[in-house]
Amino acid sequence: MAALDSSTDVVIIGGGIIGCATAYHLARRGVAVTLVEKGPIGYEQSTRNWGWVHQQVRYPHLIPLAVESVRMWDSLAGDLEADVGWIQGGNLTLGFAAADLAEFERWGETARRAGLETTVLARNQVVDMLPGMAGMQGSWTGALHLPTDGQADPDLVTAAFARAAERHGAHILNDCAATAVDTTGGAVSGVLTERGPIRASQVIVAAGAWSGRLARPLGVRFPQRSVRSTVVRTEPVDPVTAVTGWGDGFTFRQDRAGRFVLAGGEAAIYDVDLGLFRDMRWFLPLAWRNRRWLRMRVGRSLLGDVAASLPGLSARREFWERRRKIDPPADAKGARQTLARFHQAFPGLAGAGMESAWAGNIDSTPDQAPVLGPAASGPTGLFLATGFSGHGFALGPAAARLVADLVLGDEPPVDPHPFRHARFAERDVPVVVVHRR
Ligand SMILES: Cc1cc2nc3c(=O)[nH]c(=O)nc-3n(C[C@H](O)[C@H](O)[C@H](O)COP(=O)(O)OP(=O)(O)OC[C@H]3O[C@@H](n4cnc5c(N)ncnc54)[C@H](O)[C@@H]3O)c2cc1C
Repeated sequence: MAALDSSTDVVIIGGGIIGCATAYHLARRGVAVTLVEKGPIGYEQSTRNWGWVHQQVRYPHLIPLAVESVRMWDSLAGDLEADVGWIQGGNLTLGFAAADLAEFERWGETARRAGLETTVLARNQVVDMLPGMAGMQGSWTGALHLPTDGQADPDLVTAAFARAAERHGAHILNDCAATAVDTTGGAVSGVLTERGPIRASQVIVAAGAWSGRLARPLGVRFPQRSVRSTVVRTEPVDPVTAVTGWGDGFTFRQDRAGRFVLAGGEAAIYDVDLGLFRDMRWFLPLAWRNRRWLRMRVGRSLLGDVAASLPGLSARREFWERRRKIDPPADAKGARQTLARFHQAFPGLAGAGMESAWAGNIDSTPDQAPVLGPAASGPTGLFLATGFSGHGFALGPAAARLVADLVLGDEPPVDPHPFRHARFAERDVPVVVVHRR
């Protein structure tokens, strides 16, 4: 087990793609960085995602960061000296009615203003793009195509950032939960961990779904919820397509081993916990707008939270130990439905069975945008890099670069204003409909 540093310049809490990429960007610029991760690197969202690197996000305020990120993805393997599974095969979102195609045209206009080329394709053009899939059935009428979108391998990327950060001198500690951020006289003075304290004048909270919990004791609040989502992987088949796609109730990409990674047939699950009551006024409008595919579930999350809030119980003392490796159950029925929809849409692949299914908790904010930069309240020296709302794999490279720039007081590549923590206090937070067909 690696030794704990007693002091450093910057401590990063969380070893997902965001924490590891930020460690990389800081370390390569000569900053002394220690990253603490409560479990294995990348174990929560960063290795459980679909692997989409998409700029085709519904929210215009995310597009510039997404564009910058894709620019970085293009040279990432070289920069990190590691295979990241990057394939720039484009993305298709199928439309089923004239209203969908009109919406694609409108989005295309917004995207073009941000320098992004998109095209609305007719049905026959889509069939041409999916070789061997000419028999593809369904009621869809066309698609939005974004040729510069891509995909990468979630099993490789976060680890590649971590190793590259280490090569530049960062210290990365697994199985070492941060229990609190320490302060002195209104400024950050370090982090308390399971293995002892680390002194530092700057701390970045990149703890995914757990960021709000770490920030709250410092008087730093922001609404954050998690939605449980299931992913299916098929057995390998011959290469069909490099395009990632959003079809009729399911999404797909084919990985380099020939396996299709699918999602979407199941309802997304809100596991009810104490945080839901705290953040209700932020998330109720969002939940109402997305009620068609959201389900509330009361169970272990709420019980665990209640037990951990009672003084003297082991559930409170062992809070992080009990949450070292979060492996939520996949929705087995939903996974079967997703696979069935895939087979229905692609009859030629009906023989591809399910190789595996897993679930992950997607942390999100009410406006589906991350919180990046200094905390607007609380101690000086505290930075937030969290709340990626289902886009953190795609946005990771540029978002981490932006956070590193803000920590160092440099000009970031993209305007950080939409991501400021203060937007919640200012009530400058649009209610958005989560992209789902
Ligand atoms: C099913 C699913 C599909 C997705 N699909 C896509 C996609 O196709 N494209 C896309 O762009 N995004 C996608 N996402 C979202 C994307 O995976 C996340 O936005 C991104 O991984 C967030 O990275 P992160 O580093 O902020 O969080 P995480 O990966 O969750 O990492 C946070 C880390 O902090 C650690 N941690 C927490 N508390 C502590 C503590 N107290 N001490 C130390 N460590 C701590 C955790 O153990 C965890 O490893 C998907 C997510 C899921 C779950």
